[in-house]
Amino acid sequence: MAEPALAPKDVVRAGLCIGCGACGPGKGALVWDEIGFLKPSGKWAEKASAGFSRICPFSPEARNEDEIAAERFPLPAERDALIGSFESAYVGHVAEGDVRAQGSSGGMVSWVAAELLRRGLADGVAHVAPADPQADGRFFGYRISRTVEEIGQGAKSRYYPVELSGVLAEIRTTPGRYAVVGVPCFIKAVNLLRAREPLLKERIAYTLGLFCGHMKSARMVDSFAWQLGAPMDQVRAVEYRRKDPGRPANWYTAHLTLADGSARWQDWWHLVDGDWGAGFFQNSPCNYCDDVVAETADIAFGDAWVEPYSSDGRGTNVVIVRAPELQGIVGEAVAAERLALKPVDAAFIAETQAAGFRQRREGLAYRLRIGPPRLPLRKRVAPGGYELTLRRKLVYRSRKWISALSHRLARASRRSGWHALYLKWAKAALRTYEGFAYLRGPVGKLMQRIEGPQRQP
Ligand SMILES: Cc1cc2nc3c(=O)[nH]c(=O)nc-3n(C[C@H](O)[C@H](O)[C@H](O)COP(=O)(O)OP(=O)(O)OC[C@H]3O[C@@H](n4cnc5c(N)ncnc54)[C@H](O)[C@@H]3O)c2cc1C
Repeated sequence: MAEPALAPKDVVRAGLCIGCGACGPGKGALVWDEIGFLKPSGKWAEKASAGFSRICPFSPEARNEDEIAAERFPLPAERDALIGSFESAYVGHVAEGDVRAQGSSGGMVSWVAAELLRRGLADGVAHVAPADPQADGRFFGYRISRTVEEIGQGAKSRYYPVELSGVLAEIRTTPGRYAVVGVPCFIKAVNLLRAREPLLKERIAYTLGLFCGHMKSARMVDSFAWQLGAPMDQVRAVEYRRKDPGRPANWYTAHLTLADGSARWQDWWHLVDGDWGAGFFQNSPCNYCDDVVAETADIAFGDAWVEPYSSDGRGTNVVIVRAPELQGIVGEAVAAERLALKPVDAAFIAETQAAGFRQRREGLAYRLRIGPPRLPLRKRVAPGGYELTLRRKLVYRSRKWISALSHRLARASRRSGWHALYLKWAKAALRTYEGFAYLRGPVGKLMQRIEGPQRQP
Protein backbone atom coordinates (compact mmCIF):
# COMPACT_ATOMS: atom_id res chain seq x y z
CA MET A 1 0.00 0.00 0.00
CA ALA A 2 1.37 3.47 -0.96
CA GLU A 3 2.21 5.65 2.05
CA PRO A 4 -0.28 8.52 2.43
CA ALA A 5 1.51 11.83 2.04
CA LEU A 6 0.79 15.23 3.53
CA ALA A 7 2.57 18.53 2.92
CA PRO A 8 3.27 21.08 5.67
CA LYS A 9 0.75 23.41 4.00
CA ASP A 10 -2.02 20.77 4.44
CA VAL A 11 -1.45 20.82 8.18
CA VAL A 12 -1.35 24.65 8.18
CA ARG A 13 -4.64 24.82 6.22
CA ALA A 14 -6.26 22.44 8.72
CA GLY A 15 -5.28 24.81 11.55
CA LEU A 16 -3.08 22.08 13.03
CA CYS A 17 0.46 23.38 12.44
CA ILE A 18 2.06 24.21 15.78
CA GLY A 19 5.04 25.83 14.03
CA CYS A 20 7.68 23.59 15.62
CA GLY A 21 9.92 23.73 12.54
CA ALA A 22 10.88 20.05 12.77
CA CYS A 23 10.00 19.71 9.07
CA GLY A 24 11.87 22.89 8.02
CA PRO A 25 15.00 22.82 5.85
CA GLY A 26 16.93 25.22 8.12
CA LYS A 27 17.06 28.57 9.89
CA GLY A 28 14.46 31.01 8.58
CA ALA A 29 12.31 28.25 7.08
CA LEU A 30 9.33 29.44 9.08
CA VAL A 31 7.94 32.96 8.80
CA TRP A 32 5.40 34.98 10.76
CA ASP A 33 1.79 34.59 9.73
CA GLU A 34 -0.62 37.48 10.15
CA ILE A 35 -1.72 36.50 13.66
CA GLY A 36 1.75 36.15 15.17
CA PHE A 37 2.66 32.48 14.74
CA LEU A 38 5.60 30.96 12.87
CA LYS A 39 4.47 28.85 9.93
CA PRO A 40 6.20 26.91 7.10
CA SER A 41 6.75 29.01 4.03
CA GLY A 42 8.22 28.56 0.57
CA LYS A 43 8.15 25.78 -1.99
CA TRP A 44 9.30 23.10 0.45
CA ALA A 45 6.13 23.66 2.49
CA GLU A 46 3.99 22.65 -0.53
CA LYS A 47 5.80 19.34 -1.03
CA ALA A 48 3.91 16.28 0.17
CA SER A 49 6.02 13.43 1.46
CA ALA A 50 5.67 10.30 3.51
CA GLY A 51 8.61 11.54 5.60
CA PHE A 52 6.79 14.71 6.61
CA SER A 53 3.62 12.73 7.37
CA ARG A 54 5.58 10.70 9.91
CA ILE A 55 7.39 13.54 11.70
CA CYS A 56 4.75 16.26 12.08
CA PRO A 57 3.45 15.99 15.67
CA PHE A 58 -0.11 16.75 14.50
CA SER A 59 -0.07 14.44 11.47
CA PRO A 60 -2.59 11.58 11.55
CA GLU A 61 0.21 9.36 10.20
CA ALA A 62 2.63 10.04 13.06
CA ARG A 63 2.99 7.69 16.01
CA ASN A 64 1.23 8.93 19.12
CA GLU A 65 2.73 9.64 22.55
CA ASP A 66 1.93 6.16 23.93
CA GLU A 67 3.67 4.46 21.03
CA ILE A 68 6.74 6.69 21.26
CA ALA A 69 6.95 6.30 25.05
CA ALA A 70 6.61 2.51 24.82
CA GLU A 71 9.65 2.44 22.57
CA ARG A 72 11.71 4.99 24.54
CA PHE A 73 10.87 3.66 28.01
CA PRO A 74 10.13 -0.05 27.50
CA LEU A 75 10.37 -1.09 31.16
CA PRO A 76 9.20 1.84 33.26
CA ALA A 77 9.04 1.52 37.03
CA GLU A 78 5.49 2.91 36.82
CA ARG A 79 2.92 3.78 34.22
CA ASP A 80 0.06 6.18 34.88
CA ALA A 81 -2.85 7.05 32.60
CA LEU A 82 -2.27 10.80 33.05
CA ILE A 83 1.43 11.31 33.57
CA GLY A 84 2.73 8.43 31.44
CA SER A 85 5.73 6.13 32.02
CA PHE A 86 8.23 7.12 34.67
CA GLU A 87 10.95 6.05 37.06
CA SER A 88 10.25 8.57 39.79
CA ALA A 89 8.51 11.87 40.44
CA TYR A 90 9.45 14.74 42.73
CA VAL A 91 8.42 18.12 44.07
CA GLY A 92 11.07 20.68 45.04
CA HIS A 93 13.77 22.96 43.70
CA VAL A 94 17.47 23.43 43.05
CA ALA A 95 19.38 23.92 46.31
CA GLU A 96 22.77 25.06 44.98
CA GLY A 97 23.74 28.51 43.74
CA ASP A 98 21.12 30.98 42.53
CA VAL A 99 19.63 28.63 39.93
CA ARG A 100 16.25 28.56 41.66
CA ALA A 101 16.10 32.37 41.83
CA GLN A 102 16.90 32.66 38.12
CA GLY A 103 14.37 30.03 37.00
CA SER A 104 10.64 30.34 36.36
CA SER A 105 9.82 27.69 38.95
CA GLY A 106 12.47 25.87 40.96
CA GLY A 107 15.24 26.13 38.34
CA MET A 108 15.31 22.39 37.65
CA VAL A 109 15.37 22.66 33.83
CA SER A 110 18.44 24.89 33.88
CA TRP A 111 20.09 22.68 36.50
CA VAL A 112 19.63 19.43 34.54
CA ALA A 113 20.75 21.12 31.30
CA ALA A 114 23.86 22.51 33.02
CA GLU A 115 24.60 19.20 34.77
CA LEU A 116 24.61 17.37 31.41
CA LEU A 117 27.28 19.83 30.22
CA ARG A 118 29.24 19.66 33.50
CA ARG A 119 29.36 15.85 33.35
CA GLY A 120 30.40 15.89 29.69
CA LEU A 121 27.26 13.95 28.74
CA ALA A 122 26.16 16.68 26.32
CA ASP A 123 28.20 19.16 24.26
CA GLY A 124 25.29 21.51 23.68
CA VAL A 125 21.73 22.17 24.82
CA ALA A 126 19.07 23.47 22.42
CA HIS A 127 16.81 25.78 24.41
CA VAL A 128 15.14 29.18 24.16
CA ALA A 129 16.92 32.44 24.95
CA PRO A 130 16.13 36.15 24.50
CA ALA A 131 16.85 37.46 20.98
CA ASP A 132 17.25 40.97 19.62
CA PRO A 133 13.85 42.01 18.25
CA GLN A 134 15.55 44.63 16.06
CA ALA A 135 17.57 41.94 14.27
CA ASP A 136 14.75 39.73 13.00
CA GLY A 137 11.60 40.82 14.80
CA ARG A 138 11.74 37.99 17.34
CA PHE A 139 11.95 38.44 21.10
CA PHE A 140 13.05 34.84 21.69
CA GLY A 141 14.50 32.00 19.70
CA TYR A 142 16.01 28.55 20.02
CA ARG A 143 19.78 28.45 20.27
CA ILE A 144 22.42 25.93 21.29
CA SER A 145 24.14 26.78 24.56
CA ARG A 146 27.49 25.17 25.22
CA THR A 147 28.41 26.59 28.64
CA VAL A 148 26.75 26.67 32.03
CA GLU A 149 26.67 30.50 31.82
CA GLU A 150 24.82 30.38 28.51
CA ILE A 151 22.30 27.94 30.00
CA GLY A 152 21.69 30.45 32.80
CA GLN A 153 21.02 33.26 30.30
CA GLY A 154 18.20 31.19 28.80
CA ALA A 155 16.39 30.45 32.09
CA LYS A 156 12.68 31.32 32.45
CA SER A 157 9.54 30.39 30.51
CA ARG A 158 8.81 32.09 27.21
CA TYR A 159 5.17 31.89 26.12
CA TYR A 160 6.19 32.98 22.65
CA PRO A 161 6.45 31.27 19.22
CA VAL A 162 9.82 29.62 18.68
CA GLU A 163 10.92 26.94 16.22
CA LEU A 164 13.51 24.20 15.95
CA SER A 165 14.68 24.30 12.31
CA GLY A 166 17.84 26.35 12.99
CA VAL A 167 19.08 24.26 15.92
CA LEU A 168 18.27 21.00 14.13
CA ALA A 169 20.35 22.20 11.17
CA GLU A 170 23.23 23.02 13.54
CA ILE A 171 22.97 19.60 15.20
CA ARG A 172 23.06 17.91 11.77
CA THR A 173 26.20 19.80 10.71
CA THR A 174 28.13 19.89 14.02
CA PRO A 175 29.07 16.52 15.51
CA GLY A 176 28.46 16.08 19.23
CA ARG A 177 25.87 14.99 21.76
CA TYR A 178 22.95 17.30 22.38
CA ALA A 179 20.00 17.83 24.70
CA VAL A 180 16.82 19.53 23.51
CA VAL A 181 14.43 21.44 25.79
CA GLY A 182 10.87 21.83 24.56
CA VAL A 183 7.12 21.75 25.14
CA PRO A 184 5.44 18.32 24.66
CA CYS A 185 4.62 18.57 20.95
CA PHE A 186 8.16 19.80 20.14
CA ILE A 187 9.68 16.87 22.04
CA LYS A 188 7.28 14.52 20.25
CA ALA A 189 8.47 15.97 16.91
CA VAL A 190 12.12 15.51 17.94
CA ASN A 191 11.44 11.88 18.83
CA LEU A 192 9.63 11.28 15.54
CA LEU A 193 12.58 12.84 13.70
CA ARG A 194 15.05 10.73 15.65
CA ALA A 195 13.21 7.61 14.53
CA ARG A 196 13.67 8.59 10.88
CA GLU A 197 17.14 10.13 10.93
CA PRO A 198 19.93 7.95 12.39
CA LEU A 199 22.21 11.02 12.64
CA LEU A 200 19.76 12.84 14.90
CA LYS A 201 19.12 9.65 16.86
CA GLU A 202 22.83 9.45 17.59
CA ARG A 203 23.37 13.15 18.34
CA ILE A 204 20.25 14.09 20.31
CA ALA A 205 21.03 12.18 23.45
CA TYR A 206 18.53 13.78 25.86
CA THR A 207 15.13 15.44 25.74
CA LEU A 208 13.97 17.78 28.53
CA GLY A 209 10.22 18.42 28.40
CA LEU A 210 8.21 21.33 29.78
CA PHE A 211 4.64 20.73 30.93
CA CYS A 212 2.35 22.79 28.73
CA GLY A 213 -1.05 24.46 29.07
CA HIS A 214 -0.95 25.91 25.55
CA MET A 215 1.24 28.07 23.32
CA LYS A 216 0.58 31.73 22.72
CA SER A 217 1.08 33.99 19.72
CA ALA A 218 3.51 36.91 19.51
CA ARG A 219 0.49 39.22 19.76
CA MET A 220 0.43 38.64 23.51
CA VAL A 221 3.45 40.98 23.64
CA ASP A 222 1.56 43.62 21.62
CA SER A 223 -1.29 43.31 24.08
CA PHE A 224 1.09 43.81 27.04
CA ALA A 225 2.51 46.90 25.30
CA TRP A 226 -0.94 48.38 24.57
CA GLN A 227 -2.00 47.90 28.17
CA LEU A 228 1.25 49.18 29.69
CA GLY A 229 1.34 52.26 27.48
CA ALA A 230 4.57 51.18 25.78
CA PRO A 231 5.11 51.85 22.06
CA MET A 232 5.61 48.41 20.55
CA ASP A 233 8.58 49.55 18.43
CA GLN A 234 10.36 50.58 21.62
CA VAL A 235 10.00 47.22 23.39
CA ARG A 236 13.36 45.45 23.58
CA ALA A 237 12.81 42.66 26.13
CA VAL A 238 9.85 40.74 27.55
CA GLU A 239 9.47 38.79 30.74
CA TYR A 240 6.25 36.86 31.21
CA ARG A 241 6.76 35.85 34.83
CA ARG A 242 8.91 38.24 36.84
CA LYS A 243 9.73 36.54 40.12
CA ASP A 244 9.11 38.09 43.53
CA PRO A 245 9.97 35.79 46.47
CA GLY A 246 7.66 37.90 48.67
CA ARG A 247 4.53 37.07 46.66
CA PRO A 248 2.79 33.84 45.66
CA ALA A 249 4.43 32.08 42.69
CA ASN A 250 1.16 32.08 40.74
CA TRP A 251 0.83 35.89 40.83
CA TYR A 252 2.46 36.43 37.44
CA THR A 253 3.90 39.84 36.52
CA ALA A 254 4.43 40.83 32.88
CA HIS A 255 7.49 43.04 32.43
CA LEU A 256 8.69 45.01 29.40
CA THR A 257 12.06 46.72 28.98
CA LEU A 258 12.08 49.66 26.55
CA ALA A 259 14.80 51.04 24.25
CA ASP A 260 15.61 53.91 26.67
CA GLY A 261 16.26 51.42 29.48
CA SER A 262 13.00 52.18 31.29
CA ALA A 263 10.60 49.40 32.25
CA ARG A 264 6.83 48.88 32.43
CA TRP A 265 5.15 46.06 34.29
CA GLN A 266 1.77 44.91 35.48
CA ASP A 267 0.35 41.92 37.34
CA TRP A 268 -1.48 39.53 35.02
CA TRP A 269 -4.73 39.79 36.93
CA HIS A 270 -4.94 43.52 36.10
CA LEU A 271 -4.59 42.73 32.40
CA VAL A 272 -7.74 42.37 30.28
CA ASP A 273 -6.43 39.03 29.00
CA GLY A 274 -4.43 38.01 32.06
CA ASP A 275 -6.27 34.78 32.89
CA TRP A 276 -4.10 32.00 31.44
CA GLY A 277 -6.94 29.49 31.42
CA ALA A 278 -9.21 31.68 29.28
CA GLY A 279 -7.12 30.84 26.20
CA PHE A 280 -6.29 34.28 24.83
CA PHE A 281 -3.86 34.02 21.86
CA GLN A 282 -3.75 30.22 22.03
CA ASN A 283 -2.35 28.41 18.99
CA SER A 284 -5.21 26.47 17.38
CA PRO A 285 -3.61 22.97 17.38
CA CYS A 286 -3.52 23.17 21.20
CA ASN A 287 -7.29 22.57 21.05
CA TYR A 288 -6.47 19.02 19.94
CA CYS A 289 -3.48 18.18 22.15
CA ASP A 290 -3.65 15.43 24.80
CA ASP A 291 -0.12 15.62 26.28
CA VAL A 292 0.16 17.93 29.31
CA VAL A 293 3.35 16.52 30.84
CA ALA A 294 5.73 15.82 27.93
CA GLU A 295 5.13 12.08 27.98
CA THR A 296 7.88 11.32 25.45
CA ALA A 297 10.64 13.37 27.15
CA ASP A 298 13.44 11.76 29.15
CA ILE A 299 12.61 14.09 32.02
CA ALA A 300 9.74 16.57 32.33
CA PHE A 301 9.25 19.66 34.47
CA GLY A 302 6.34 21.80 35.59
CA ASP A 303 5.20 24.14 38.33
CA ALA A 304 3.90 22.72 41.60
CA TRP A 305 0.50 24.39 41.37
CA VAL A 306 -0.79 23.15 44.73
CA GLU A 307 -0.46 24.61 48.20
CA PRO A 308 1.80 25.32 49.98
CA TYR A 309 3.99 25.54 46.87
CA SER A 310 1.86 27.91 44.77
CA SER A 311 2.11 30.49 47.55
CA ASP A 312 5.89 30.22 47.71
CA GLY A 313 7.20 33.00 45.47
CA ARG A 314 10.65 31.44 45.27
CA GLY A 315 9.19 28.87 42.85
CA THR A 316 8.79 25.09 43.07
CA ASN A 317 9.02 22.42 40.37
CA VAL A 318 7.36 19.12 39.90
CA VAL A 319 9.64 16.72 38.03
CA ILE A 320 8.91 13.42 36.26
CA VAL A 321 12.01 11.33 35.54
CA ARG A 322 11.35 8.85 32.75
CA ALA A 323 14.84 7.77 31.58
CA PRO A 324 16.80 5.53 34.00
CA GLU A 325 20.08 7.35 33.20
CA LEU A 326 18.64 10.67 34.36
CA GLN A 327 17.23 8.97 37.45
CA GLY A 328 20.83 8.20 38.44
CA ILE A 329 21.93 11.83 38.00
CA VAL A 330 18.97 13.31 39.88
CA GLY A 331 19.18 10.69 42.64
CA GLU A 332 22.88 11.42 43.26
CA ALA A 333 22.26 15.17 43.41
CA VAL A 334 19.42 14.70 45.90
CA ALA A 335 21.68 12.56 48.10
CA ALA A 336 24.37 15.26 47.90
CA GLU A 337 21.77 17.92 48.82
CA ARG A 338 22.42 19.82 45.61
CA LEU A 339 18.73 19.39 44.84
CA ALA A 340 15.96 19.74 47.45
CA LEU A 341 13.49 17.23 45.99
CA LYS A 342 10.91 15.09 47.74
CA PRO A 343 9.45 11.96 46.08
CA VAL A 344 5.75 12.19 45.17
CA ASP A 345 3.32 9.90 43.38
CA ALA A 346 1.54 10.25 40.04
CA ALA A 347 -1.64 11.51 41.71
CA PHE A 348 0.29 14.42 43.26
CA ILE A 349 1.72 15.44 39.88
CA ALA A 350 -1.69 15.17 38.23
CA GLU A 351 -3.23 17.33 40.97
CA THR A 352 -0.71 20.12 40.24
CA GLN A 353 -2.01 20.16 36.65
CA ALA A 354 -5.67 19.49 37.40
CA ALA A 355 -7.01 22.28 35.17
CA GLY A 356 -4.70 21.27 32.31
CA PHE A 357 -5.85 17.65 32.48
CA ARG A 358 -9.54 18.67 32.52
CA GLN A 359 -8.97 20.79 29.41
CA ARG A 360 -7.04 17.96 27.66
CA ARG A 361 -9.29 15.08 28.67
CA GLU A 362 -12.98 15.92 29.18
CA GLY A 363 -12.52 19.24 27.32
CA LEU A 364 -10.75 17.52 24.42
CA ALA A 365 -13.45 14.83 24.21
CA TYR A 366 -16.07 17.58 23.98
CA ARG A 367 -14.12 19.61 21.38
CA LEU A 368 -13.54 16.49 19.26
CA ARG A 369 -17.30 15.99 19.17
CA ILE A 370 -18.50 19.56 18.59
CA GLY A 371 -15.70 20.63 16.24
CA PRO A 372 -13.73 17.69 14.88
CA PRO A 373 -10.29 18.57 13.46
CA ARG A 374 -9.94 18.89 9.72
CA LEU A 375 -7.51 15.98 9.60
CA PRO A 376 -8.39 12.63 11.19
CA LEU A 377 -6.04 12.95 14.19
CA ARG A 378 -5.09 9.93 16.26
CA LYS A 379 -5.99 11.04 19.76
CA ARG A 380 -5.95 9.02 22.95
CA VAL A 381 -9.28 10.58 23.90
CA ALA A 382 -12.49 9.67 22.07
CA PRO A 383 -15.11 12.27 21.08
CA GLY A 384 -17.66 12.60 23.88
CA GLY A 385 -18.52 14.95 26.69
CA TYR A 386 -22.27 14.15 26.55
CA GLU A 387 -22.32 13.92 30.34
CA LEU A 388 -20.84 17.38 30.94
CA THR A 389 -22.95 20.03 32.64
CA LEU A 390 -24.04 23.05 30.64
CA ARG A 391 -21.55 25.13 32.57
CA ARG A 392 -18.56 22.93 31.73
CA LYS A 393 -19.60 22.94 28.08
CA LEU A 394 -19.76 26.73 28.16
CA VAL A 395 -16.29 26.92 29.76
CA TYR A 396 -14.80 24.80 26.96
CA ARG A 397 -16.73 26.60 24.23
CA SER A 398 -15.79 30.05 25.55
CA ARG A 399 -12.07 29.13 25.71
CA LYS A 400 -12.18 28.03 22.08
CA TRP A 401 -13.98 31.19 20.97
CA ILE A 402 -11.72 33.45 23.01
CA SER A 403 -8.68 31.86 21.35
CA ALA A 404 -10.07 32.28 17.86
CA LEU A 405 -11.44 35.80 18.32
CA SER A 406 -8.41 37.16 20.19
CA HIS A 407 -6.32 36.57 17.04
CA ARG A 408 -8.79 38.34 14.78
CA LEU A 409 -9.44 41.32 17.02
CA ALA A 410 -5.77 41.86 17.85
CA ARG A 411 -4.98 41.72 14.13
CA ALA A 412 -7.66 44.35 13.40
CA SER A 413 -6.46 46.53 16.30
CA ARG A 414 -2.87 46.30 15.15
CA ARG A 415 -3.72 47.17 11.57
CA SER A 416 -5.99 50.08 12.46
CA GLY A 417 -3.98 51.36 15.43
CA TRP A 418 -7.27 51.31 17.38
CA HIS A 419 -6.07 49.17 20.30
CA ALA A 420 -9.20 49.82 22.34
CA LEU A 421 -11.07 47.53 19.94
CA TYR A 422 -9.17 44.46 21.16
CA LEU A 423 -8.87 45.65 24.76
CA LYS A 424 -12.59 46.36 25.22
CA TRP A 425 -13.57 43.07 23.61
CA ALA A 426 -11.02 41.16 25.72
CA LYS A 427 -12.36 42.71 28.93
CA ALA A 428 -15.93 41.68 28.09
CA ALA A 429 -14.84 38.22 26.92
CA LEU A 430 -12.88 37.61 30.12
CA ARG A 431 -15.82 38.73 32.28
CA THR A 432 -18.10 36.27 30.48
CA TYR A 433 -15.56 33.44 30.73
CA GLU A 434 -15.04 34.09 34.44
CA GLY A 435 -18.78 34.01 34.92
CA PHE A 436 -18.85 30.45 33.57
CA ALA A 437 -15.56 29.32 35.10
CA TYR A 438 -15.65 30.92 38.56
CA LEU A 439 -19.33 31.88 38.86
CA ARG A 440 -18.39 35.57 39.02
CA GLY A 441 -20.54 38.59 38.13
CA PRO A 442 -24.00 38.55 36.53
CA VAL A 443 -23.13 35.61 34.25
CA GLY A 444 -21.95 33.64 37.30
CA LYS A 445 -25.15 34.44 39.19
CA LEU A 446 -27.21 33.26 36.25
CA MET A 447 -25.19 30.02 36.01
CA GLN A 448 -25.60 29.43 39.73
CA ARG A 449 -29.33 29.85 39.42
CA ILE A 450 -29.40 27.33 36.55
CA GLU A 451 -26.96 24.74 37.87
CA GLY A 452 -25.88 25.52 41.44
CA PRO A 453 -22.25 25.93 42.64
CA GLN A 454 -19.71 23.58 41.03
CA ARG A 455 -16.04 22.89 40.96
CA GLN A 456 -13.39 25.28 39.59
CA PRO A 457 -12.03 25.05 36.00
C1 LIG B 1 4.39 27.56 26.47
C2 LIG B 1 4.60 26.99 27.86
C3 LIG B 1 3.50 26.55 28.59
C4 LIG B 1 3.67 26.00 29.87
N1 LIG B 1 2.57 25.53 30.55
C5 LIG B 1 2.73 24.97 31.77
C6 LIG B 1 1.62 24.44 32.50
O1 LIG B 1 0.48 24.47 32.02
N2 LIG B 1 1.85 23.89 33.72
C7 LIG B 1 3.09 23.85 34.27
O2 LIG B 1 3.24 23.36 35.40
N3 LIG B 1 4.17 24.32 33.61
C8 LIG B 1 4.02 24.86 32.37
N4 LIG B 1 5.12 25.34 31.69
C9 LIG B 1 6.46 25.09 32.26
C10 LIG B 1 6.86 26.12 33.29
O3 LIG B 1 6.53 27.41 32.82
C11 LIG B 1 8.37 26.08 33.56
O4 LIG B 1 9.05 26.20 32.35
C12 LIG B 1 8.82 24.81 34.19
O5 LIG B 1 8.17 24.66 35.41
C13 LIG B 1 10.34 24.80 34.38
O6 LIG B 1 10.72 25.77 35.28
P1 LIG B 1 12.23 25.85 35.75
O7 LIG B 1 12.36 26.92 36.78
O8 LIG B 1 12.68 24.49 36.10
O9 LIG B 1 12.94 26.26 34.38
P2 LIG B 1 14.09 27.32 34.13
O10 LIG B 1 15.28 26.97 34.91
O11 LIG B 1 13.53 28.69 34.17
O12 LIG B 1 14.45 26.98 32.60
C14 LIG B 1 13.49 27.03 31.60
C15 LIG B 1 14.11 26.42 30.37
O13 LIG B 1 13.12 26.27 29.38
C16 LIG B 1 13.55 26.90 28.19
N5 LIG B 1 12.36 27.46 27.56
C17 LIG B 1 11.65 28.54 27.95
N6 LIG B 1 10.60 28.72 27.14
C18 LIG B 1 10.65 27.75 26.21
C19 LIG B 1 9.87 27.42 25.10
N7 LIG B 1 8.79 28.12 24.75
N8 LIG B 1 10.20 26.32 24.39
C20 LIG B 1 11.29 25.59 24.72
N9 LIG B 1 12.09 25.86 25.75
C21 LIG B 1 11.77 26.94 26.49
C22 LIG B 1 14.54 27.94 28.61
O14 LIG B 1 15.45 28.22 27.58
C23 LIG B 1 15.20 27.27 29.79
O15 LIG B 1 16.26 26.45 29.37
C24 LIG B 1 4.97 25.93 30.42
C25 LIG B 1 6.07 26.40 29.71
C26 LIG B 1 5.91 26.92 28.43
C27 LIG B 1 7.13 27.43 27.66
